[in-house]
Amino acid sequence: AIILGIESSCDETSASICINGEIHSNVIATQAIHAKYGGVVPELASRAHQQNIIPTVDEAIRQAKISKNQIDAVSFTRGPGLLGALLVGTSFAKSFALAQNIPLIDINHMQAHILAHFIEEPKPSFPFLCLTVSGGHTQIVLVKDYFEMELLGETLDDAAGEAFDKTAKILNLPYPGGPLIDKYASQGNSNMYKLPEPQIPGLNFSFSGLKTAILYLVQDQLKQNPDFLTENIADLCASVQSRIVSILLNKLKKAAKQTGVKDIAIAGGVSANSGLRKGLIEMGEQYHWNVFIPKFEYCTDNAAMIAIAGYHKYLKGDFVGQDVAPMARMQL
Ligand code: ATP
Ligand code: MG
Ligand code: FE
Repeated sequence: AIILGIESSCDETSASICINGEIHSNVIATQAIHAKYGGVVPELASRAHQQNIIPTVDEAIRQAKISKNQIDAVSFTRGPGLLGALLVGTSFAKSFALAQNIPLIDINHMQAHILAHFIEEPKPSFPFLCLTVSGGHTQIVLVKDYFEMELLGETLDDAAGEAFDKTAKILNLPYPGGPLIDKYASQGNSNMYKLPEPQIPGLNFSFSGLKTAILYLVQDQLKQNPDFLTENIADLCASVQSRIVSILLNKLKKAAKQTGVKDIAIAGGVSANSGLRKGLIEMGEQYHWNVFIPKFEYCTDNAAMIAIAGYHKYLKGDFVGQDVAPMARMQL
């Protein structure tokens, strides 16, 4: 079967072609417009999706060397995400399904981040644990089957990606700050600044205290030295990153112990972070886990994960009608 996948939940317009469970194209149009506002502006995102969606789909079909008449089903991100952004992908997918007379498949974006692990070998086996860390979410999920997922823990305030992005703003780095903090961190000393580890019960997370601690530290130091940020950026980034990573991995360790599950995966934009990837590999060696880390292109938002999730729903015959509507909030 040939599946067209469409992603438009935030600031990436993406289209992908999946042929019999293999990804043949994954075209991503990233919206540069948001950088100058220091974050995603929803109205501008919707408009950019509207401009990008047709060329992005055309390019995905071209790169996969198929014709659009060969497509057997279209899957799209129904939520969670920005409503106006989701509406563009949803409306496109509906129109395409109607015009081609093919089934329509709705996909949960957070499930899709996890299902990105089924694009290529090595694939985890059920049940496995997934730490999903992205711009809007931080979740520990027990994955029992492709579409049977149990939420074991989540953030009570900011997401891990938000912690990176908000810290970057305090450090005067442009949006999105996560990749930049990662880059500077590799040149810094992570023991230079002591940042708090919140004591949150169970498998939940909190990152807002960390953000406040950094804000106070920076404000304090700037009073004594106006060049504090530029002179210490690497050590600041290394210290922040190492604390975010330790918060994440300590909870993941706890979840592994509680469930006895040994197949452990990470997913979402923050799973591109080199400190997290390295830390997970080390912890996996220590506790004899089978560790699953996505390829970089499948960490941040992409339609390949929507197409592979669509393929697995297609195999089950799990389709939706033309009355389907996107949802800004959507449970796993
Ligand atoms: P959600 O999936 O929760 O709806 P989203 O789709 O906006 O949110 P993703 O695209 O999965 O999120 O991830 C984007 C986030 O990943 C941003 O916060 C970005 O800073 C962060 N990120 C990307 N690369 C890195 C990196 N190397 N280190 C740390 N953070 C990173
Ligand atoms: Mg994005
Ligand atoms: Fe995402």
